[in-house]
Formats: sequence, C-alpha cells, structure tokens
Amino acid sequence: AHAPRPQAWFDGALCDIDALQAGLTTHAMHYGSGVFEGIRAYATADGAAVFRLPEHMERMRQGAALLGMAFDPAVATEAVLATLRANRHRDAYIRPLAWFGEGGFGLDVEGHTEHLMVATTATQVHLNGARARLGISTWRRNPADSLPPLKLCGAYINSILAKRESKARGFDEALFTDADGFVVECTGANVFLVKSGRVTSVTHRDALPGITRDTLIALTGAEARAVTIAELRDADEVFACGTAAEVAPVHAVEDRRYGDNPVTRELAALYARVVRGESETQRGWLTAV
Ligand code: PMP
Repeated sequence: AHAPRPQAWFDGALCDIDALQAGLTTHAMHYGSGVFEGIRAYATADGAAVFRLPEHMERMRQGAALLGMAFDPAVATEAVLATLRANRHRDAYIRPLAWFGEGGFGLDVEGHTEHLMVATTATQVHLNGARARLGISTWRRNPADSLPPLKLCGAYINSILAKRESKARGFDEALFTDADGFVVECTGANVFLVKSGRVTSVTHRDALPGITRDTLIALTGAEARAVTIAELRDADEVFACGTAAEVAPVHAVEDRRYGDNPVTRELAALYARVVRGESETQRGWLTAV
C-alpha cells in the first residue's frame, strides 16, 4: 500500500495538509494569540497509543480558557486520534493548535474566527541520544505573573531568544535561571539532577508544569523542589525532559562537564518502556489510537 498523502485535521475535517492555508490577517500570526500542545504516540504491542493524552488536553484547555477561546477537549481528542489514524502513524509527534484567525488588526480577540488544527509527523526512535550542552541564558524566563507557564504561542518568543543566544555561543540548548540564581527550565524541557543516586526535580513557578516531569516524579519518587545553579553544578548528573526530548542526558552546563550519566540512562530506558506500554502498572497513561 502507498503511504497516504499527509492529512491534517482542520476545523472539523481531515484534509490534505498541503491544501490548508491561513489568511494574512490571522490574529495569532500578528500577536501570538494561540495555544498548542506537543504530544507523542508510540507503537505498543497493541498498536499505536497516545501517551497521557487527557493531561495534554487539560493543559491546552487551560491556555484556551485564558485566551477566552471556545475549546472542547473531547473534540480535540477525537481530532488527534483521527489524524493519527489517517496518517497511519505509530511513533509520531502530534501538534494540536487552537488560534484566533481573521478579523481586524486590533488587539481585541472578539470578532475573530477561532480555529483548531492537528498535524502529526512520524518520529524516529532514539534512545540515549546525543548529550546536550547547555548555555545559561542571559534572558530570563517569562515571569509567571506576566505570562503564565502554559503553551501560549506568543510566549515561545522567550524560548526562541534564549535558544538563538545559546546556539550562537556554541551550545545546543539554553538553561533559564532567575535573578536569584535558581534554575527554571530549558527552552522546551524541564530539568532534573542526580546527586549520590538521588533524583531531584527542579521546581520553579515560571517553569511549564511538564507532563514528562510529572511522569518521572511518579516513576522515581523524585523530590521536587527549588534548585540553585550552584547545586546544579555540584550534581553528579543533570538531565532535561519533555515530550519531544523524552529523557535527555546533559553533557555540560557552561564549563561544568558531567560524567557518563548512568542513572539518567537507566531512567531513559524505563521511560521508553512505559511509553510503549511495556510496564503493566502504567498502561492507564496510554490512549489506544
Ligand atoms: N518546558 C517548556 C517551556 C516546554 O515547551 C515543554 C514542552 N512542552 C516542557 C517544559 C516539557 O513539557 P512536557 O513534558 O509536558 O512536554
């Protein structure tokens, strides 16, 4: 059988992704007035399944509510599953986006059309991939009392600035710290450290409450608390985690190099088993496609 022409879900129907367009007065394009998710599906013994879909939908609902957008998690859930089926994906990255469309150039969202799309792309299986080198960002993370840590489109300019700066300095990724020297998160991933075999999850009010972070805390019983950059430098291992990044060992933070990351590698392998439904007790986190 031929691979299907890539389909996307747009406002209630599946169509060829190449046939879809958005207009030039799209409010979200001018002002970032949208909310998105990054979700993954994995091949399991019983076919493709989406990992922690309700939790991703709930976070998206919160962002949509903040923007005053009508958003129905049940509709978005069906859209995700329909798109995965249409594209016959097994291991896939899933991108739902809800946004304000055409209308006037004013800031008011009222009077603008509202849209929902879902696109999916096949993902490669990569376990224990390249270890990232993090540069400490001179940009601060969006403070939560200015912009809540949700997946609001415009908020990601902050991540883009930090990522550009770190890349220009020869690093792979940026690490945000606050003005008091506390670790916040990376541009699209949360941060953990390992010291003397104990796993600690970085907590910060400006950081996105990551679903992968929550998963790893549940799996390891890691303590979640505030961590200074000094404590991070003193750690035996550091790793980043996110839906796309999964469990990603950190090779260095600025000039501080870490060792072989054995605990991180073990956790990455455990995470890989859980998302593929190989762990009986965590099957409830999977939604069959
Ligand atoms: N922080 C930021 C800023 C992110 O964009 C992401 C990716 N969604 C994460 C952390 C990790 O969150 P999750 O584990 O839910 O993907």
